[in-house]
Amino acid sequence: MHEPRRAEAHEAGGGSDESRRLLEAGLNLKPSGRVHAPSSTAPPESASSGAAGEITVADPVFSCRDLSVFYGDKRALKNISVDIGRRQVLAAIGPSGCGKSTFVRCLNRMNDTIPGARVTGTITLDGQDIHDAASDVVRLRARVGMVFQKPNPFPKSIYDNVAYGPRIHGLTRSRADLDEVVCTSLQRAGLWSEVKDRLKALATGLSGGQQQRLCIARTLAVQPEVILMDEPCSALDPIATAHVEDLIDELRESYTIVIVTHSMQQAARVSQRTAYFHLGELIEVGATEQVFGNPQRKLTEDYITGRFG
Ligand code: ADP
Repeated sequence: MHEPRRAEAHEAGGGSDESRRLLEAGLNLKPSGRVHAPSSTAPPESASSGAAGEITVADPVFSCRDLSVFYGDKRALKNISVDIGRRQVLAAIGPSGCGKSTFVRCLNRMNDTIPGARVTGTITLDGQDIHDAASDVVRLRARVGMVFQKPNPFPKSIYDNVAYGPRIHGLTRSRADLDEVVCTSLQRAGLWSEVKDRLKALATGLSGGQQQRLCIARTLAVQPEVILMDEPCSALDPIATAHVEDLIDELRESYTIVIVTHSMQQAARVSQRTAYFHLGELIEVGATEQVFGNPQRKLTEDYITGRFG
């Protein structure tokens, strides 16, 4: 059915602060990782029994099948198969080290940037294989934006942070167009009223919560379809967290969101579907109320009832 593929990771950009910031902003402009046909030396697939719950959804944005990730010899994800629904929030939960971040990084090929990382299996975005040789990784990372745990604004003005992606991707034709994109993105990120009078001020002078919403605005400015959020609130205080959670709720009307969170309360508040990972396996996936209210696997139940994790 699905031909396994292997996308071999490669060095992304010298590891400088600037290249790291660009990558973290989903703006990696380096060439994509190479895609190889499966080789006979590929490690054997695990005999994973598959996740409990419904892995398929109608009209998926992403479909992942038999997705595995290796860091050198270590296998961090084991045969994950799951669809991600359009204009929904999928929460990835599970104990630390279970592979949540690795999973979301697969969705915009950020694992390609980790030396020694190797991805097998297939991922389609709107039906197109993202590891296909014809797939443009720069375009992919514009379509699938990423927001990180720690807000990571560029040491530039608020305006220039948001304008950065549209400028690099040539999305606007005039200064007026760019002004419009910056304004709209900041409005969508719920930050406009707080910064409209100081767009030329340094972004690093904003509070942590404002910086995170600025990073969301920066992601929105390149018109993504999907936003990946890797523990976006873990560095924020409760008020800033509530702001970002409200924002996620608004954004899902227009975007698909995948959020990694260690907070089960947060997963329950913001997501419609929840995926529970354990030791690199997807144990269970389903409607959030069902996963929290009536888990089908004991491992899921033990985690959500606080028995471990
Ligand atoms: P989680 O997000 O659930 O905490 P991760 O995806 O970060 O889990 O990690 C899954 C496993 O992969 C862990 O055992 C972790 O140590 C390993 N891992 C993650 N990133 C790397 C990396 N860059 N190099 C080597 N191992 C890694």
